[in-house]
Amino acid sequence: MTTTIDSFNQLGLAEPLLTALSEVGYERPSPIQAACIPPLLEGRDLLGEAQTGTGKTAAFALPVLSRLDLSVRDPQALVLAPTRELAIQVAEAFQRYARGLPGFQVLPVYGGQGMVAQLRQLQRGAHVVVGTPGRVIDHINRKTLRLDRLRTLVLDEADEMLRMGFVDDVNWILEHTPAERQVVLFSATMPEPIRRIARRHMRSPEEVRIRERTTTVEATTQKFCKVAAPHKLDALTRILETEESLDAALVFVRTKTATVEIADKLEARGYAVAALNGDLTQPVRERVVDQLRKGRLDILVATDVAARGLDVSRISHVINFDVPYDTEAYVHRIGRTGRAGRTGTAILFVTPREMRMLGMIERATRQKIEPLPLPSRAAVADRRVAQFREQVENVIATEELDFFREVVRDLEASGTADLHEVAAALAYLAQRERPLQLPPARGPDIADAHRSMRPASTRAPAEGVNPGGALVRYRIEVGRHHQASPKDIVGAIANETGMSGRNIGRIDLFEDHSTVELPADLPPEILETLRRTRVRQRPLGIRTLTVEEAAVSPRPGSRPKHPSSGKYAKPSKGGKAKPGKPRKPKRV
Ligand code: AMP
Repeated sequence: MTTTIDSFNQLGLAEPLLTALSEVGYERPSPIQAACIPPLLEGRDLLGEAQTGTGKTAAFALPVLSRLDLSVRDPQALVLAPTRELAIQVAEAFQRYARGLPGFQVLPVYGGQGMVAQLRQLQRGAHVVVGTPGRVIDHINRKTLRLDRLRTLVLDEADEMLRMGFVDDVNWILEHTPAERQVVLFSATMPEPIRRIARRHMRSPEEVRIRERTTTVEATTQKFCKVAAPHKLDALTRILETEESLDAALVFVRTKTATVEIADKLEARGYAVAALNGDLTQPVRERVVDQLRKGRLDILVATDVAARGLDVSRISHVINFDVPYDTEAYVHRIGRTGRAGRTGTAILFVTPREMRMLGMIERATRQKIEPLPLPSRAAVADRRVAQFREQVENVIATEELDFFREVVRDLEASGTADLHEVAAALAYLAQRERPLQLPPARGPDIADAHRSMRPASTRAPAEGVNPGGALVRYRIEVGRHHQASPKDIVGAIANETGMSGRNIGRIDLFEDHSTVELPADLPPEILETLRRTRVRQRPLGIRTLTVEEAAVSPRPGSRPKHPSSGKYAKPSKGGKAKPGKPRKPKRV
């Protein structure tokens, strides 16, 4: 894939989209966007190998939006996504890029969400529908989702849909779309079943993949930090406070807007920092870089474009606040440190959903990137105290203190306090701007947060769930009476916890509740999530069956009806049931 396209203007997108992109602060297309947008605008089918973080959402959303006929209020594009979380994100991205398209409507539809509201919105009309396969099938069957005007079908994260057992659903949906539609398939990997879908439903698709050129990276220590997006700023300041041998840092973000936002926030926290983005004129850019070189600034927050060619030997740290689009961009970024024979450190922030990017970078640079545990609040406080001591010792060693000694002696002589108390009061005054004691945390600390964070449902198996562990029956408070189906239940559990279908065993529906087989040793945070997860508007209120309940609870023997119901009837995997926990290996 070539990256010679420097501007969105070269791609042939509709004018209002270009305005929106500049407002959201995108400076140039990512490689996957540069490669996908032109063929998609021509109406061609496309098979894209790309993961979260590469900019793939805009790669398909922008051409879809560009080709829309806004006067037609029937769905012209349908995006299938494996989880409700992703469906919502994709719908939000459409909304963001479509701000200049008057009357544009996008509707996310997913299981577990009230049907009534969805029906009302579908009746009102939507130009684009983004949904999880199960719910989309529901709507097609009820004829509430009409696809006769459909021009584009996008399968996003196709390998995840496959992994979650949606392959039959996806084929079924493809078969219910008009023959002339454009099919776009994005997947992080291209296993054979995905290629089979492509062969069956696509017409000579354009194939696009991110180039993975291997490059050696020397003189740079690479680390990564797993951090959820809302905690990135806090993580950044902790790292800036605690990293050893930090001289100057270059912080990479994706958009112009983010350079300014983050620079402002760091400035408010007392850092000598400036934003470096494509909006700066050449003389201003040069002045900023010069200030960094001379030590008047310590941090620059930059986009890839703006940092191109930057050569300042003081840069000891490159912090990838947002993941780069591809390995090439990563290598360019970290090449800004470790210059002039010095060593440098590169730190990469990855959200749980972007963990695949990490593997890609490791492969391309042929280096293991070590995890960097996020410094705890205590570590930040320790570091501040250590720095404070160092400053005090420095002052004692280097400054002329006679006058100040007199002031202190007078204070002591006045009899209000002894020397220790005076010194403590002075330490208190000195630290007011940058407290040595951090205020107590509200909620769990972010250094621990990734352990309790909701597992990334589309990326990794639920953390803490033993994939081969014994399954036991749990009770959930939705049943036939609430119109819950096994499909809804599996969808909600898989979506909310990231558990794979392999961990979800038999589901039995009763009148006012159901039982579902799940691993015996579910971690408490997953149980908590599942207690709150809603199906048909009702919280699942999950709990294990008591021995008595299990003994009396009959198996209704109902078999779920659904195009891919086979996935609910797989045998429970491995392991023995725990003593006292009832479980029969019998399957429907
Ligand atoms: P995705 O890989 O689609 O999940 O996108 C990852 C992130 O990159 C999202 O936060 C997008 O808003 C952002 N993004 C996508 N394309 C661009 C671009 N050309 N310039 C800056 N940010 C972008």
